[in-house]
Amino acid sequence: MSVHRNARCRGPYGGEGDQADGTDCSDPAVFEIVRYGLPPLPVCPVHLGPALLMASGVLWPPEIRLIGRV
Ligand SMILES: [Zn+2]
Repeated sequence: MSVHRNARCRGPYGGEGDQADGTDCSDPAVFEIVRYGLPPLPVCPVHLGPALLMASGVLWPPEIRLIGRV
C-alpha cells in the first residue's frame, strides 16, 4: 500500500459538503484534478474524463496529478 492517503473518488461532479449528492462513486481515487479556488478533486480512472468536463473550478488546460496506482 504505497498510496499516501485513502482518497475516495468524488467524481464526476466534485461535490463538497452540501453539494456532495452527485458523488455516488466509492472507488479509490487514482488522480487528483487541480481546481481554481477549490480543494483538489480526487477521482477514479472512470470519472477522470467526466469530472474534467463537469466539475466546477477545473483549470483549462486541466492539471492532473497521479495520487494512486492505476
Ligand atoms: Zn469514480
